[in-house]
Amino acid sequence: MAAPTTYDFVIIGAGVVGNAIARDLAGTQYSVALLDARDDVCEGTSKANTAILHTGFDATPGTLESRLVREGYHLAEEYSHRTGVGLKKSGAILVAWDEEEKATIPSLQEKAIKNGYEKTEILTSEQVYDQLPHLGGGALAGLAVPDESIIDAWSLPLALATDAVNRGATLLLEHAVTGVTTGEDTTTLHTSKGDVGARWVINAAGLGGDTIDQYFGFDRIRVHPRKGELFVFDKLSSQLVDKIVLAVPSKKGKGVLVSPTAFGNVMLGPTADDGEDKTDTSTTESGFEFLLEKGAHIFPQLLTEEVTSSYAGLRAAHNLSDYLVEVDADQRYATAGGIRSTGLTSAMAVSLYLMDLMRQAGLEFTERENLPDAPTMAPLGEHQVRPFANAELIEKDPAYGEIVCFCERVTRGEIRDAMNQTIPPTTINGLRRRTRAMNGRCQGFFCGAEVKTQFESLKKEA
Ligand SMILES: Cc1cc2nc3c(=O)[nH]c(=O)nc-3n(C[C@H](O)[C@H](O)[C@H](O)COP(=O)(O)OP(=O)(O)OC[C@H]3O[C@@H](n4cnc5c(N)ncnc54)[C@H](O)[C@@H]3O)c2cc1C
Repeated sequence: MAAPTTYDFVIIGAGVVGNAIARDLAGTQYSVALLDARDDVCEGTSKANTAILHTGFDATPGTLESRLVREGYHLAEEYSHRTGVGLKKSGAILVAWDEEEKATIPSLQEKAIKNGYEKTEILTSEQVYDQLPHLGGGALAGLAVPDESIIDAWSLPLALATDAVNRGATLLLEHAVTGVTTGEDTTTLHTSKGDVGARWVINAAGLGGDTIDQYFGFDRIRVHPRKGELFVFDKLSSQLVDKIVLAVPSKKGKGVLVSPTAFGNVMLGPTADDGEDKTDTSTTESGFEFLLEKGAHIFPQLLTEEVTSSYAGLRAAHNLSDYLVEVDADQRYATAGGIRSTGLTSAMAVSLYLMDLMRQAGLEFTERENLPDAPTMAPLGEHQVRPFANAELIEKDPAYGEIVCFCERVTRGEIRDAMNQTIPPTTINGLRRRTRAMNGRCQGFFCGAEVKTQFESLKKEA
């Protein structure tokens, strides 16, 4: 049998965290492979979250999470501007619904200051209703957090992975790691598609991170899925909510929120239910009822609007009180684990922190010359100029004037572009994430057949 290809770095996990690490490492002198069990990048937790770039105002002060969320926020904001990923600084208002919650507001403001965020403002009930006129009755006070932002959470991880591949990283999809054999200079990763060699292994496997950690002899983190179910409301509901409406956080997390999305919808959720099955992303009747009850309280009028879709994501909940980002120089192994509910925001900072730890362990990184520019992502955000509305673009290429998906106004030109990307979709769902086709109010009832025909024929040509 031929010896496996050996890379300087193999990153296990092509979610937002692994992609950020792959991008940074691929910008150095080292060879890099980004490997995932699934058939596309961003198929794990990174594809199903609430898509908020957090300022970190409510993190536990002094933790690594607090620091990396704060730093990651600015890195992701800057990178999104550079790559055209949809991002809107909508701001948030945290609402207190009873006296006990109201009493915690000043301490939340102090916590924000300890976390390095000084722009919160305590609001009276009247001020809350001035800013959120459709909010349900009974709000007693609020805390404004003007920099909380909404982002296109699919395009950010895809941009990072695309950047990594453009910089020379090898993407190995459908490679589920099932075991490792550590050698003196090289570790062999046993995968569902054969062995892969690595001088250094980076564990960014999210929900699977504890299993990978055990392959390297550690027993320090136990990960279980915490399901979060969400409703997405039709775009017509966007007039009701233009800010993120947060709950007072509890031990179980950030609570149920109502938020505009970067695409112009409104989102209600998530639930927080601990489970065991790391693959179960089904929505449930109990989750449905819970969200209806919460929604009726927070934004009663929202429930008169159409629900476009519902979905569930799985947080990598665990037994530790902070992120687990560590390097084991002896085994040439690093882990970026325990990144439960803030990873979309912190990913780029996690990557830089991990590289610092590896530097301290003796590795030297030199940035390669003539790195390609960061990719330009499709403008999918509601506030961006979409191709169907861009007369100049249509003039140059009429395919951008041919609408295929009418709910989301996705054109033939955009579907073609998605199929020609550095990392093209392998499934219709991958195409949905890259273009928004079939993500509108009809969920593909009208355009599904046409989108699938285009997808299949372009896939054959590729
Ligand atoms: C409901 C919900 C709401 C959230 N809201 C927010 C938010 O608003 N803002 C925010 O910043 N964060 C939010 N988060 C958290 C954020 O989504 C996660 O922290 C982040 O996506 C984690 O990224 P990751 O790369 O670590 O994991 P993942 O995206 O899960 O990637 C891990 C990858 O590793 C692969 N893998 C696992 N095991 C193996 C193996 N053995 N072999 C090969 N590959 C393997 C998986 O296939 C997967 O693709 C939310 C999460 C949820 C569930």
